[in-house]
Amino acid sequence: MTHLEKLFGLQGKVAIVTGGARGIGKCAAENMAAVGADIVIFDLLEEAAAQTAREIADKYPVRTASFYCDVTKPEQVRERIAAAADKMGTLDLLLNNAGICIQTPVEDVLPDEWLKVIDVNLNGIFYMAQQFGKWLITHNRGGAIVNTASMSASIINTPQPQASYNATKAAVKHLTKSLAVEWVSKGIRVNSISPGYIWTDLTAAIREDYRNAWLAQIPMRRMGTPQELAGAIIYLFSDSAAYTTGCDVIIDGCFTVV
Ligand code: NDP
Repeated sequence: MTHLEKLFGLQGKVAIVTGGARGIGKCAAENMAAVGADIVIFDLLEEAAAQTAREIADKYPVRTASFYCDVTKPEQVRERIAAAADKMGTLDLLLNNAGICIQTPVEDVLPDEWLKVIDVNLNGIFYMAQQFGKWLITHNRGGAIVNTASMSASIINTPQPQASYNATKAAVKHLTKSLAVEWVSKGIRVNSISPGYIWTDLTAAIREDYRNAWLAQIPMRRMGTPQELAGAIIYLFSDSAAYTTGCDVIIDGCFTVV
């Protein structure tokens, strides 16, 4: 084993990636496989999840699987985690990443829209972390969770109105710290990443005038790429981060600094 593999390798680890069919989750899954992790994709996009799993297995010498899983359904989450463990033999890592963003001025937000964003971005993160952690504890195993928060946990984005998104991401950041403290004695580390504006289907769907405004606000004058998050995610999962838990890693081209 090379020194780099000792520092950052995920050989023999089994990782679930939610929202892994595309975007940040897909890119992270590919990179985690490249450093040795077996990958299980959970997503609403069943066919795209299966396709991502196939692509990864074709490219890297790892095992992959995919499951339809709606992270807002606690019983389904429990079943799918058990099914993933049965299929792969064990579980070690969770990239808790599925999320949505709906942009509406606060005065026009309907209760259903508010609840949907809370349900996916906060409840979904909780249900996945809860059942994954419970599985590890029941099987007397340590492990690691990385939650995808956002720089919106720390700042308020403009010009787009997205109070529900911002509120959920702030909650994810604090939930991460709560889980880290509660599970520190169980050998389960829990960290979050907080990306700035990253070019994916999620941001591509947002109004062009908003995106142009962001470019003027970002000190680096560009959006980031999913690839630019992958190294931080691998670090947080690796043995190099054995003393790192309850930490939020901001990757935002300097956005939150100014
Ligand atoms: P994408 O929309 O490209 O991918 C998200 C994936 O999650 C989609 O496949 C989506 O499926 C899936 N998903 C949505 N709801 C659920 C659910 N209930 N259960 C399971 N899967 C679900 O988004 P990104 O890759 O851009 O974002 C990934 C994460 O990163 C999100 O949490 C997002 O908030 C966060 N983030 C993104 C930033 C960015 O600039 N892109 C910046 C900061 C944070 P479907 O298409 O069917 O909804």
